[in-house]
Formats: sequence, C-alpha cells, structure tokens
Amino acid sequence: MSTSEIDQLIQLLSKLPGLGSRSARRATLYLIKHRESLLMPLGDAMAAVSENVKTCEICGNLDTVSPCGLCANATRDQKTICVVEDVSDLWALERAGVFSGQYHVLGGNLSALDGVGPEDLTVEPLMQRASQEGVTEIIIALNATVDGQTTAHYLTDRLSEYSLTISHLAHGVPVGGELDYLDDGTLATALKSRRPLS
Ligand SMILES: [Zn+2]
Repeated sequence: MSTSEIDQLIQLLSKLPGLGSRSARRATLYLIKHRESLLMPLGDAMAAVSENVKTCEICGNLDTVSPCGLCANATRDQKTICVVEDVSDLWALERAGVFSGQYHVLGGNLSALDGVGPEDLTVEPLMQRASQEGVTEIIIALNATVDGQTTAHYLTDRLSEYSLTISHLAHGVPVGGELDYLDDGTLATALKSRRPLS
C-alpha cells in the first residue's frame, strides 16, 4: 500500500493522543498532499523544537529558553504565583488571558495509589519561591480530581508557615474536570472568583 517511510510516519502519528491509525493515515495523506505548505514546515518546526526545548528552571514551563518567556517578562506581576499540575494547565490559563502573574508547574499530583509523594513533585522549589520576599499570594489551581484536591490540601498545609494569602480556584471547575478542557470563559470565572483560605 505504501513505502516503509510513509508507513513509519503513519505509525508515529497514530501514537499521538486522540489519533488512531485511521486518523493517522488521513493526516499523513493530507501532509503529503500539502508537502510545500505543511509537511516541510512541520518537519522543520518539529526538528527545531526537538533540538531546543527546555524546561524552565524557575517555573517548569516548556520553552526554547530558560528562564522561559513568562518568567523573563518583567511586566508580569511578581507577587502572585499560580500552582498548576501540568504545562497543559499553564498553557490553558495563558490562552484564557486572565492571569498575569508567575506560574509553578508541580509536575503531577500526590497519589498514594500510584506511589507519588511530595519528593516526586516540585514541592520544595515551590516552598523556596513562596519564602522569597515580595511574594504575597499563592493560587492553587489544581484539577478538581480527588488527587488534585488532596494535593491542594497538602500544599495549603505546607504553605501556612509563610504569611501569604493562599487561594483556590472557585466554582466553575467541574468535579473531576481538568483545566485544559475548560473553555476560556469558565476558566476566567474560576480564577477571578478564587477564594482566599488564609
Ligand atoms: Zn518559567
């Protein structure tokens, strides 16, 4: 049906989230038909990202520079740190355009079932950032899953030793919902109506 290189492309694309082998075949054919305008620029973009991607040493965001573009942006509010589970949540909040402070990517949630403890997450770097002069508020924007809420309580406990306002995302986040799946308006409401805990 096709040569091995094309088969390999289909195989690789079929491993992407949300794509099965049928979608991967369609995408491959589409790319080949748009060789100049899509396939070649896509190849270049993938090579460039693969070569240059870095995890930000401050917040954990993915960028081609570290510190990332958000951490290096002096016009952003330095007093507020928003804690998210994953880079996808950070990108969702940025896409919604409602937050102009700093971020902290935790790298997951605590989970007794999966054996994830505080040492597996960026909890200590968060404590260090929280203790820095000038930081006044930590927004815990973890997903409304059981693990997310367990983690939120743990962090609230740990952060209580600092004189900070600790707030959680308010209503608007459905139970079991993940931030990345929320529409921008819902996310904006959840952030604006966040509740201080201390
Ligand atoms: Zn950063």
